[in-house]
Amino acid sequence: MTSHCCEAMDRHLNTPCDRHGDPFACPDALVAFSAKFQEYGLIIHDSGTSTITIGFCPWCGEHLPASQRDRWFDELERRGVDPAEDEVPAEFQDDRWLTATRRD
Ligand SMILES: [Zn+2]
Ligand SMILES: [Zn+2]
Repeated sequence: MTSHCCEAMDRHLNTPCDRHGDPFACPDALVAFSAKFQEYGLIIHDSGTSTITIGFCPWCGEHLPASQRDRWFDELERRGVDPAEDEVPAEFQDDRWLTATRRD
């Protein structure tokens, strides 16, 4: 379980709805977190999976971590993986790639 900036964010992201397994199908779900991109988004309930990426927490106002979307694509390219065609390695499906590729 990832812990977020505040209790409200934690509660919204970590409490699954007992009627809807998928937050995009749940009218009560407000935010979604993409672990692989480290992106927070407001869910647009248009029956798809659209979100508006947000830079600040709507509850506590904390500056949220920067999106790692560009790096995600860069790292895969470095490994010769084309996410559109090739199978994306398991650690790139969630936030594990961030620790695997941390350069210090
Ligand atoms: Zn917050
Ligand atoms: Zn629900």
